[in-house]
Amino acid sequence: MNLCLISNTSSSPSNSLIADWRKLTPSQPAVWRSILRKNFTDWKKLATYLELDEIQQLAILPKSAFPLNLPMRLAQKIEKGTLNDPILRQFLPTIQETELTPDFVTDPVDDQAFRRETKLLHKYEGRVLLVCTSACAMHCRYCFRQNFDYDVSNKVFEKEIALIAEDRSIHEVILSGGDPLSLSNETLGTLFDALAQIPHLKRLRIHTRFPIGIPERIDAGFLALFEKSPLQCFLVIHVNHVNELDDEILAHLKALQKKGVVILNQSVLLKGVNDEGKTLKTLCEKLVDNGILPYYLHQLDKVQGAGHFEVLEEQGTFLIAEIAKTLPGYAVPKYVREIPGKESKTAIF
Ligand SMILES: *Cc1c(COP(=O)(O)O)cnc(C)c1O
Ligand code: SF4
Repeated sequence: MNLCLISNTSSSPSNSLIADWRKLTPSQPAVWRSILRKNFTDWKKLATYLELDEIQQLAILPKSAFPLNLPMRLAQKIEKGTLNDPILRQFLPTIQETELTPDFVTDPVDDQAFRRETKLLHKYEGRVLLVCTSACAMHCRYCFRQNFDYDVSNKVFEKEIALIAEDRSIHEVILSGGDPLSLSNETLGTLFDALAQIPHLKRLRIHTRFPIGIPERIDAGFLALFEKSPLQCFLVIHVNHVNELDDEILAHLKALQKKGVVILNQSVLLKGVNDEGKTLKTLCEKLVDNGILPYYLHQLDKVQGAGHFEVLEEQGTFLIAEIAKTLPGYAVPKYVREIPGKESKTAIF
């Protein structure tokens, strides 16, 4: 590997974290970026690749404000010649998105009301959410933040960091977006270093789906970020169906676990994807067998265009109760929904 030699050799405490990840930041563009560029973004190419016939293609929405974006790794796991695939359903824009469903709105979780800085949401006590970027490795059709008014003018978090440093009630920073792993190791490293200087911060959490599409993102430079972090780090991945996982993804996550990062998973309950007990159970088992704890199963946030994904709460409760009968307690995610104005996510089961 061609290593960049701008490493900082200063021994002052404020620079002690910086050396490691800088040394491992390659001067060439990162491998994962070239993989990302091969994502499917053209529905015709995807339809041809998946051998969808003319009738099936009529279901595709050719143009949408939230465009098709699907990594090759996930596309390779989709069954050919059908629309009824649990991965495809999550990523293919279809004409069902144009149906209006009552109560489905542009900002179902009321993010706007909790914006304390351009890129900072403070909704729950003790933790803040940093909206790091608008970019994702993939576009999930049910994403509740697809209409978010992102600040894409820069990758600077100065105002947000100042606010976190001033507010001693904050103990945890959640990096979210978009997908924080869309940022370079260098940008993340600078951010980690700044957060590491804030004494009342104890925990750093990263919400990401990136490794599911492009596990190569967890490269040496990224791993090095966790080498000396004074904060307890959590990585919350987002997997809805076991088909999304494979050995290479799990091996990359294992490397992170070896750095002391605790890995959790959140899923969204989605019709036609994971709304059967057996499907959910298989996913939960695969996760815990690899040391990943199922954290939340989210009731769908009612974002416009996602009505066809809704599973009723009664059915969700039934499903979770079913799997809880046959799994250890730690393998059963908390079934929650987001009610704006509440002090935490609301437990359904
Ligand atoms: C969901 C959410 C969190 C995290 O909640 P946890 O229950 O701690 O996982 C934090 N901030 C915002 C704005 C959220 O939507
Ligand atoms: S990866 Fe996360 S933020 Fe990005 S589109 Fe999917 S659900 Fe939304």
